[in-house]
Amino acid sequence: MIYIDNNATTRIDSNVLEAMLPYLKEDYGNASSTQHKMGRLTHHAIEESRISIAKKLKVDPKEIYFTSGSTESITTVIKGVFERYQSIGKNIIIGATEHKAVITTCEAIEKKGAEITYIPVNENGELNINYLKSAIKKETILVCLMSANNETGVKYPIEEIAEICKERNVLYFCDATQSIGKEEIDLSQIPIDILCISAHKFHGPKGIGALFIRRKSKPIQIEPLILGGKQENGLRGGTYNTANIIGMAKAIENVSQKVNNEVEELRNYFERNVNNHIEDCKILSLHAKRIVNTSNIFFKYVNSSELMIKLSNIAVSSGSACMTGVSEPSHVLKAMNLNNEESRCCIRFSFSKYNTKEQIDIVIQDLKNAIEQIRASSPIWKMYKEGILD
Ligand code: PLP
Repeated sequence: MIYIDNNATTRIDSNVLEAMLPYLKEDYGNASSTQHKMGRLTHHAIEESRISIAKKLKVDPKEIYFTSGSTESITTVIKGVFERYQSIGKNIIIGATEHKAVITTCEAIEKKGAEITYIPVNENGELNINYLKSAIKKETILVCLMSANNETGVKYPIEEIAEICKERNVLYFCDATQSIGKEEIDLSQIPIDILCISAHKFHGPKGIGALFIRRKSKPIQIEPLILGGKQENGLRGGTYNTANIIGMAKAIENVSQKVNNEVEELRNYFERNVNNHIEDCKILSLHAKRIVNTSNIFFKYVNSSELMIKLSNIAVSSGSACMTGVSEPSHVLKAMNLNNEESRCCIRFSFSKYNTKEQIDIVIQDLKNAIEQIRASSPIWKMYKEGILD
């Protein structure tokens, strides 16, 4: 298999796995059992990991909370902020292209009285910042806008959003799941209040993430989602997932800007070749600011499900992985004004440092052959070629 679905999940780095193994074998003490040496050892390792992660994000380790991943972080923040602040206001602002974890959580609290405002994007997937400015009102308690979109790779201007929210005195929560590992976010410079990351998106283990919550003179209040022990300052109960936490810290330490630049070169090489070798295709959001690894491509009159069956040795995605099994077209592409038919003709390619130029050459060749085969037996394509259809 050639794996080009790295926005869904990534291969774990071998030094990450090695760093985790002792905590799955001999060092299995519960990090909360600090009365004995084995508990103290894992407690210490977890705190070291917290320091490592905080260092990468340029924040205080006390501002880092461990969770099971971004879905949990997102649910905790949206539900938890709504519960604590709804007496002040019930309005929450989100982007039209947020991840389903954000959208479904908002739909759930809407039933409890929340009022959700969606900020639209243009046909390139870029956020309408003026709409955001006019949407913030005195009832707004939270703005939730992602750093980069999982389907298109399009970045939102998080610096500008953070400044707007700061000026208007509204909490800004940034879902940075797709950015961390692909580019640096310096939280000592950008006044984001809350941010989430997920290890399996940057060659760490699955089922572990972190939530950054800025310490402010007026502390941010979030009602916990998972009750239990007093872990994570009472924000998140449950026995520590020590090995995963160690793995996440190691994975974030591995992130390198140089490697990310190489991934970008590879992605650009792929896009140049697609344009040169495959007719009637369009790279979505080509002129928008995008993260380094993502390419979402529309192939005219080629159904993505059919194409993926033909590309049986290549792992890619149509829409986001969380949408698998759901036949509805992607809400992200819809927000970018693609109609249902067009969005069914889009494939997401998301690269990583484990991809090579040789793999890309194979993918281009396979893609070209598969598309030509599909089009050769398509009456619609024939009509299009004869000028009967647009
Ligand atoms: N947010 C974005 C932008 C994502 O891409 C994903 C995963 O696909 C999530 C949130 C959910 O992350 P997790 O898998 O850690 O629950």
